[in-house]
Amino acid sequence: MAEILIVEDELSIGEFVEINLKMAHHNVTRVTNAEDAITLINGGRQFDVALLDIMLPGMNGIYLCEHIRKHNESMGIIMVSAKSQEYDKVTCLSVGADDYITKPFGIQELLARVESLLRRLNRGSTPAASEEVLQSGPFVLDLKSRVLYKNKQMIDLTSVEFSIMELFFRNKDTALVREKILEGVWGENYYGDVKIVDVNIRRLRIKIEEDPSNPQHIVTIWGYGYRWSV
Ligand code: CA
Repeated sequence: MAEILIVEDELSIGEFVEINLKMAHHNVTRVTNAEDAITLINGGRQFDVALLDIMLPGMNGIYLCEHIRKHNESMGIIMVSAKSQEYDKVTCLSVGADDYITKPFGIQELLARVESLLRRLNRGSTPAASEEVLQSGPFVLDLKSRVLYKNKQMIDLTSVEFSIMELFFRNKDTALVREKILEGVWGENYYGDVKIVDVNIRRLRIKIEEDPSNPQHIVTIWGYGYRWSV
């Protein structure tokens, strides 16, 4: 059972999603605008996953996502959009959303994405005792607390970014094709396209590279994917 927040101004869609998530045994809180969501979160409410509609009255879902991410890297965020433009997808992911779904969606697909995100959020929470930390050069990945350190400085990562780093750490100096990263991080049955990998790599570089435009650690292999080196 997970705590799920729905931010959706279309009542029929909001109610439909709420009913289905409750039938899947989740605790659901539903609001119809971003301001109410912020009031709840600032008031200390904890959510495992938030479903954020993009087109909302007042503050839109993109700004809401950005606002949540400023204070909370661990909450799972799925953006819900009525449009299917690539622009929206990239924008959502670059402000820190973990996933993206386009209306109209089938309820089974939405439930599958929520479950898959919950699995990703929980993964690594119980690593073997002998393997609680992965080290790579000046970087240390704490698998138990899911935190990255660079030269002992903590770097906040989203759950997706953390999973990408874990994949890199386990495959040092290995060229990883983008599809393999997608599969390794998002799971085998993920429907998204490989651009989601590039967007997250861009965000990771800003966080961990000295000069993100000239990356030394996450190296691009043109027409193929990425390699981790230290
Ligand atoms: Ca809307």
